[in-house]
Amino acid sequence: MPIPSNLTQTLSLTLPSPLQRFSPPWPGADKLTMWIKRDDSIHPVISGNKWRKLQQALTTLPQGTQRIISFGGGYSNHLHALGYVCHKFKIPFTAIIRGDYCTRLTPMLGDLQSWDCDLQFINKATYKLRDDPDYLAQWHQRFPHSVIIPEGGSQVQALAGMQDMVAEIDTDFTQILLPVGSGGSLAGVASALSSHQHATGIAVLRGQDYLEERVNSLLPAPRNNWHIEHRFHHGGYAKAPQGLLDFCHTLFGQTGLAVEPVYSGKLFYAVAELIAEGAFAAGEKLVLVHTGGLQGARKG
Ligand SMILES: *Cc1c(COP(=O)(O)O)cnc(C)c1O
Repeated sequence: MPIPSNLTQTLSLTLPSPLQRFSPPWPGADKLTMWIKRDDSIHPVISGNKWRKLQQALTTLPQGTQRIISFGGGYSNHLHALGYVCHKFKIPFTAIIRGDYCTRLTPMLGDLQSWDCDLQFINKATYKLRDDPDYLAQWHQRFPHSVIIPEGGSQVQALAGMQDMVAEIDTDFTQILLPVGSGGSLAGVASALSSHQHATGIAVLRGQDYLEERVNSLLPAPRNNWHIEHRFHHGGYAKAPQGLLDFCHTLFGQTGLAVEPVYSGKLFYAVAELIAEGAFAAGEKLVLVHTGGLQGARKG
């Protein structure tokens, strides 16, 4: 297989990613100790948590794999990251995209096209079949010896890379917080925690119950050390009301930390709110995972 085992060196990834102290001027923040796990600095193109989730699948591709196929929306950081890696290693890649962007490629789809990816546009009804075995069999038939990676890269194999992320954190923390889209990252983090640690996922889309089910389906055994906050999606996926945009802008001005409104902005906004609500006891040690996504913040 053309993918080398020393991917980290070949792609010049910054691993382990830095762990930074974070002291924002938020009400109540002075009673806590906070760090940011800077997975956004792993690579300028390969969005942080997408690397973590893909790492194991890419390093263990079956012998004779001829193509990778995956699913996502027009702004998918996952397709973008995977497309870049496939381009670098000259692996044919088919991106199956929800909705017809054919005549109006987003900046990320434009990148995929320039990386010679095969872009397939399907309608929303067909896209619902993205995990259906019969539907996937049709793609396997069309492209023999292909490997299909599910939407967002969220599959059981994605957990190992997130566990590596947690293992890199060389300070004892009590709380870890991260944004939740398809649930793979949270499942990986929850599976790696010690008994005194708790994970909070901030849902970036309207997904009550559905997201909990997704996380549970990926966990090897049920765990009660995590939960998802559903109050901070700001109207839904990629919805960015002015209040959220103002928050991102102010955070950058105050701390120099760049966040985007789709994932990390919602995380930091939620953490500020949770602290103000008194969700954390004085003295708790929080790690906020900056999962990346800045390459997707470009305007179309
Ligand atoms: C995809 C993504 C997430 C969500 O991760 P899931 O494992 O899908 O829940 C968070 N942050 C960024 C930047 C992402 O691209």
